Amino acid sequence: MSNQRTEIASLGEFGLIDRLTKNNEIKQSSTILSIGDDAAVIDHGGMQTVISTDLLIEGIHFDLSYTPLKHLGYKSVVVNISDIYAMNATPTQIVLSIAISNKFSVEALDEFYEGVYAACEKYNVDLVGGDTTTSQRGFVISVTAIGEVAQNKFVKRDGAKPNDLICVSGDLGAAFLGLTILERERKIFEQTGAQPDLENQTYIVGRMLKPEARKDVVDYFAEHNIMPTSMMDISDGLSSELLHICKQSNVGCVLHEEKIPFNEDMKDFAYKLELDPTACALSGGEDYELLFTISQADYEKINENNGLSVIGYITEASEGKNIITRGGNKHELVAQGWNHLK
Ligand code: ADP
Ligand code: MG
Repeated sequence: MSNQRTEIASLGEFGLIDRLTKNNEIKQSSTILSIGDDAAVIDHGGMQTVISTDLLIEGIHFDLSYTPLKHLGYKSVVVNISDIYAMNATPTQIVLSIAISNKFSVEALDEFYEGVYAACEKYNVDLVGGDTTTSQRGFVISVTAIGEVAQNKFVKRDGAKPNDLICVSGDLGAAFLGLTILERERKIFEQTGAQPDLENQTYIVGRMLKPEARKDVVDYFAEHNIMPTSMMDISDGLSSELLHICKQSNVGCVLHEEKIPFNEDMKDFAYKLELDPTACALSGGEDYELLFTISQADYEKINENNGLSVIGYITEASEGKNIITRGGNKHELVAQGWNHLK
């Protein structure tokens, strides 16, 4: 970042919007009208439209002391379109609104938008509008993602059936450890002024600061003709998400601890911090992997993909919601959001 500091007031609201959106490129043919009018116009040509929104508040959802603005812009888009993929849909447009205090310079916002545009480029979505306003304190970001899906091909949380297999993409728990290191170093810095030591944990810190949405998984479903019976993204811990699927589908589950996928660096670092990797996966948040169920007939298709793991199966509701530990013991699966680990 350059050392230049341009006050937002020197550009004015329209000057600022102009500057932030002047290089905006439209990629989707469904975008009929983009930034510059009272509203955007989208034509999904007979497809169904999927919409999801998220509000991100400084100090609650992100901490600017260790979150680079470019990463924050990127993540703000990614966490939203992750919800669209979780519906088995394709994100096509976003609208992004910001409230900013005068502590922000124009250059800081340029950096934030660099991340926004990088995510739009990577996931092939168009930024088609937003709103810009001031806040007395703190940075507020609202992103609404819009996507498309073929008629009735969207996947909800309520379709899991007994004997379906429970599957997850990627590996779990690393983002929580990334947050743990960043929070630890922030406290040390505040108390001693010591420079952060992230112990070369690039993977786990990256999982927290620069998550990706699982477009590839939804593409894999389409290529292999797989229709999950239920699906959601993992923004809280695995246990609370799986309990949502069970509740909404009115079923029970058996989760096998030994099947939960971990990254090797993540496991080593969890042990170093004397944390249980399983607890990080069950109760840590922000992994943005996909949790889904499939009928047993699709097992081979899922098993062929090394990036997907079968971690358990669905039961009748009367059998409860359980986890079988490595030692073979059965415990009730309890909902712990990631907050209790903080
Ligand atoms: P209005 O008066 O209708 O709120 P604005 O003057 O706020 O309109 O916005 C003008 C145009 O710029 C609109 O198309 C709006 O969607 C877009 N816009 C405003 N703020 C942003 C932003 N932060 N990012 C992207 N587009 C924006
Ligand atoms: Mg406006």
